[in-house]
Formats: sequence, structure tokens, C-alpha cells
Amino acid sequence: MKERSAAINTASRRSAPAESTVLIIGGGIGGLASAIASQQVGVPAVVFERAPVLQEVGAGIGLGANGMYALAKLGIADAVKAVGSSVERIEIRGQAGDVLSVLSTGPLERERGVATTLVHRADLHAALAERLDADSIRLNGECIGFDQDETGVTVRLGTGKEVRGALLIGADGMSSAVRRQLWGNQPPRYAGYTSCRGILESGFVSLQEDTGFEAWGSGRRFGLFHINSGQAYWYATWNAPAGGAESGEPLKQRLQSLFQGWASPVPQALANTPAETLILTDICDRPPLPQWGRGRVTLVGDAAHPTTPNLGQGACMAIEDAVVLAQCLGGRSDRMTALRAYEDRRRRRTAGIVSASRRMGWIGQWENPFACALRNTALKLTPQRLARRRNDALLREAVAQLDG
Ligand SMILES: Cc1cc2nc3c(=O)[nH]c(=O)nc-3n(C[C@H](O)[C@H](O)[C@H](O)COP(=O)(O)OP(=O)(O)OC[C@H]3O[C@@H](n4cnc5c(N)ncnc54)[C@H](O)[C@@H]3O)c2cc1C
Repeated sequence: MKERSAAINTASRRSAPAESTVLIIGGGIGGLASAIASQQVGVPAVVFERAPVLQEVGAGIGLGANGMYALAKLGIADAVKAVGSSVERIEIRGQAGDVLSVLSTGPLERERGVATTLVHRADLHAALAERLDADSIRLNGECIGFDQDETGVTVRLGTGKEVRGALLIGADGMSSAVRRQLWGNQPPRYAGYTSCRGILESGFVSLQEDTGFEAWGSGRRFGLFHINSGQAYWYATWNAPAGGAESGEPLKQRLQSLFQGWASPVPQALANTPAETLILTDICDRPPLPQWGRGRVTLVGDAAHPTTPNLGQGACMAIEDAVVLAQCLGGRSDRMTALRAYEDRRRRRTAGIVSASRRMGWIGQWENPFACALRNTALKLTPQRLARRRNDALLREAVAQLDG
């Protein structure tokens, strides 16, 4: 797992942020993007991350054209492209390897200069972190609560310290402490299937560099993409009760048995992935919130609208949030009105993604062989232009939101 910690200090050893600062809780993709975007519009921002080092899990991530457009607004798209892999063709396949549907890079994406890009999460994270100076990221900075009043927000840290700022942004993920204090402690909503992710050397898989695929079987799916010139990334999903805890060799063997008989390169990818690097994650989301923030506090990314990964949009939405939030903060002197304006601009779009992604996962995980055969035939008969239209709408709306 790659990590970046050398230049970044712990929360307790740095000077206190100025009281006009935006305090961002969470140094994931959403938190770092929010800090960059805020600083770009002249609003000082500091990130508090609970972990002792800044790092991401050892997996790949796909950024759709809309996510890349948002990264371009942060000035990072080229850096991510340089360490990632652009995909020209995404196929949905049957488990026998038959191509059911193809989504190719379209004219709108070419016109905007953005294409779906796969990248190692650590490389995306590093590209974001590099845009922030060391003083903007405070490690060992777990938020355990906050108070707000007429003049600002006070965040209580796990170290016993308190920090004061003008606004608070909860970018602390699916189990956000900020969201919990605002809206209570409901558990995430399990989608009924779990996932495993792995990375391997790309030499082990026969797959054209500009092509990725997701194969659909009965109650199981398997996706594979290149993430740079030397590595490929795969993910697998299967229906299972929540809370599985297998790891290492037993997990690898389970995957090999779940995907036994699937067309190449699925078995090859599994066989050549080191068992100790496998990451098992239950797939969850949360129903959309009617209201995200209150007073001087708001949420971004998974803290606001965690989604299942079926559309590959969770991180894309977090980056879009960051850009829109900064636009609202930069454009208004009344900061609380700015937070509400941001939420108003983002709620409908993100709620649509959460429900479309959940629906897509539900269909993708069908188990009944007859229903699966019908589904795959319907997919084969669906004109490619419909898939293209859906994808274009996603980018078109991003352009409308992010261009201001
Ligand atoms: C299997 C899987 C595959 C996915 N694939 C894709 C994909 O291809 N494309 C895509 O766009 N999205 C994908 N996603 C979704 C994406 O990973 C998330 O939407 C994205 O990481 C959200 O970023 P975030 O910064 O909001 O939250 P997180 O990444 O969860 O970051 C939250 C950060 O806050 C920190 N933190 C938590 N609590 C506290 C606290 N109390 N105080 C301080 N810090 C705290 C955490 O340590 C963490 O660093 C996938 C998700 C999964 C599970």
C-alpha cells in the first residue's frame, strides 16, 4: 500500500488554524478535493484526518468523464491521466465472455477532452495531496464532536484538543461522525452483496490496454481494467450475508470457486493476484438525506450521499461536491447561505446516482438463471445509443453544475 506522510505533521504539533478557516474532517478523496477547491477560491481550509498517515486502500478506482471534468477544475486531471489509464471501450460481458453491450468514448467526451480513467487509488490520493501544503493536512486529527455558535465552530479532537474555525465540512465517509452528530446514528443500508478487490501485474491478463469489462453471471459479477502501464485492477461481487470476514488464501480460494469456469481472463486474474492483498468490502449505501447540513456545518462525499459502486460514481460525486461547494463559498460573503446553496445544487444529482446505482446493482446481482438469461438478452438488444445517452447526460449535467 502506498502512503504519503513524510511532509505532513500530526494535528497536535501544528499551530491553530485562523478563525476564518474552513475545517474539513476527513482526508479522503472528498476532503482533499474540498480543501484544494476552497483554497483555489481564496478560502483558507485545513483537513483533519484521523489516521496517522495519509493513505488509500490498495485498489483501483474508475473516474468517469464527469469525475475527470471535476478534477480538471481542480487542475489535477492531467496529473491523474499521467499515472492512470484511459479507457476507450467498456464492455458488459456474459460469464462466457460474450459481449452484451459496449460503451465507447463519445463525441461529447472528446469535445470536453475527458475520458473515463482508471487509476490506483494511492496515485489519485497522492495527486490530490500534492496540491496542498503540509500545514493544510493534520494527521491523528480524529473529530469526536463539534459545537457551533454565532461566530464559528469548535471541533473536539480525539487528542483532547479543540480547534476553532468559521465552517465545518464533514468529509469523513460512510460512517461520518459529523453526520452522526447532525442526523443520528443509523447503520448503513446493506445492498445484499459483498465485494472483493485486487491488483495484479497487467502482464498476467490478456486485455487490450484501452478496454475494460464487467462480466455478469448469476448472482456474481467480475470487472477488470488496466490502471496504469504495469498494473490491472479487478473487483468481484457476489450475493452473501453482510459481515463476511475471510481474508488471504481462504478468500482467494473462495473467489476461485465462485468464478470457476468463467471465460478468460477472469480465472487468470484471480490466480495471479497475491492473496494477502485482497480487500473484502460489504456493499452499502444510505437513503438520501432530505437536508445535509445545519448552520455552519455541511457534508461532502460519502458522508453526505454514500452510494453503491455500481456506476463508479462515489468518488466522482465527492469531487464534484468539492468544486460546487467552493464555487458557492467563493461567490458569497454570507458563508451559511453559501453552504445551503451548495446543498441545494447537489442534492438532486447525488440522490439520483444513489438510486440508479442501487437499481443497477439489484439487476446485476439477479440469481435466477431464467431472469439472468432474459436480462442479458435485453442488454444485447438495447441500442448502444441509449447507453451513450445516459453517459452523456451524466457529463452534460456535470458541465452545467461545474461551469457555474
Ligand atoms: C468496492 C468499491 C468500489 C468503488 N469504486 C469506485 C469507482 O470506481 N469510482 C468511484 O467514483 N467511486 C468508487 N467507489 C466509491 C468511493 O470509494 C467513495 O465514494 C469515495 O472514496 C468517497 O470519498 P470520501 O472522501 O467521501 O470518503 P472516504 O474515502 O471514506 O474518506 C473519509 C476519510 O475520513 C477519515 N475519517 C473518518 N472518520 C473521521 C473522523 N471522525 N475524524 C477525522 N477523519 C475521519 C477516514 O480515515 C478517511 O480518510 C467505490 C467504493 C467501493 C466500496
